[in-house]
Amino acid sequence: MDYAYDDQNIFARILRGEIPNDTVFENDHALAFRDIRPQAPVHVLVIPKGAYVSLDHFARDASAAELAGFMAAVAAVCAMEGVEAGFRAICNTREHGHQEVPHFHMHILGGKPTGPMLAV
Ligand code: 5GP
Repeated sequence: MDYAYDDQNIFARILRGEIPNDTVFENDHALAFRDIRPQAPVHVLVIPKGAYVSLDHFARDASAAELAGFMAAVAAVCAMEGVEAGFRAICNTREHGHQEVPHFHMHILGGKPTGPMLAV
């Protein structure tokens, strides 16, 4: 699988500070910020700082420190955002997964019941 990365994608530009974002949490390897079009009371995107296009790319090629840093950011967001009642984590991937931004991101959605898993 060829994971070609487009460094002009919107999240790459956010990471470079070219576009503002509403940061929730940041560490050496990950950034978490609010989705610009929230679909739930809590809608945070967690992204790695490295150039990874998708979950499978990140899972295959990220270092142990990057993997740990990303998961630490997920844990921090969940702890900070008051989602004790539960949440949904979504990683849309490529065409069939309806991915719009080609930089790996995990949506954390919560603050209300999120409904059945899929509407197909
Ligand atoms: P995808 O469909 O790729 O999983 O989701 C991309 C998400 O990025 C969408 O929920 C969209 O609202 C969000 N998004 C797109 N552009 C921006 C932006 O410039 N800033 C922020 N905070 N979110 C964005």
